[in-house]
Amino acid sequence: MKVVYSPRYEITLPGHVWPTTKYRLIAERLRGTPACTFVEPREASWDDLARVHTPEYLRKLRDDDLTRDEIATLELPWAAALADPFRLMVGGTIDAARAALEDGAAAHLGGGLHHAFANHGEGFCPLNDVAVAVRTVPILRAAIVDLDVHHGNGTAMIFERDDRVFTFSMHQLHNYPAFKPRGDLDIGLEDGAGDDRYLTWLAAALPRVIASAPDLVCYLAGADPFEGDRLGGLRLTKPGLAERDRLVIEAARGAGVPVATVLAGGYAADVTDTVDIHEATIRAMLA
Ligand SMILES: [Zn+2]
Repeated sequence: MKVVYSPRYEITLPGHVWPTTKYRLIAERLRGTPACTFVEPREASWDDLARVHTPEYLRKLRDDDLTRDEIATLELPWAAALADPFRLMVGGTIDAARAALEDGAAAHLGGGLHHAFANHGEGFCPLNDVAVAVRTVPILRAAIVDLDVHHGNGTAMIFERDDRVFTFSMHQLHNYPAFKPRGDLDIGLEDGAGDDRYLTWLAAALPRVIASAPDLVCYLAGADPFEGDRLGGLRLTKPGLAERDRLVIEAARGAGVPVATVLAGGYAADVTDTVDIHEATIRAMLA
């Protein structure tokens, strides 16, 4: 299985909650695994990005012209130099989606920037990699399975009127983002839901996702539903998260639908926990 990764994902964000070391740490765990073929991503072009993002927003990113309010909404110490690593990360998701179509499955050790809208960035997400990938690869229909603990607001809004893309988000109801635009299937769970309730809801939802007849499933395997996460409160255990992965992968595989997995969030107090969870997801893809 192709595993898309670049050391350039480890951007420096002083004092920020986002552990950008996780990408390298996961790659180190997987290097030497015979079933993993590491692939360097290619940067998404500005034309690729324009399939989702507005010309005015892309101009602001290109010309380093974001307003103070826009940077505050992004919640990143934004600098023009960050545009290229994020374009690279979008390219990584495009490459993983292409590889999944060729091989049946692929993983991107990055991506999942689901809070980015067409015309602005939010919550650590300047560009919506999965949305750009879905609009770039040669498919008719896609399903997005977003199991980050936070609702996929940008993705839901981008595909609001696009019947070819089924957006499914299962998330913590009382958590960021405050405004959750409706996707095709949204399940907002109560605080502290735990493994059993989570997995019951997921198992019931996946047949609806598959019934949308996608040519590709993009799976956002966020590590932040974990009980030790600083930004999440669903209290899933590591075995619970592993079962989550298995359910998603089996549902797609059982229907013969290729799966491209991206990592999305993960903010455990100890980054090792986040790395454990993401590594388990990739290994579940290999099983
Ligand atoms: Zn998240």
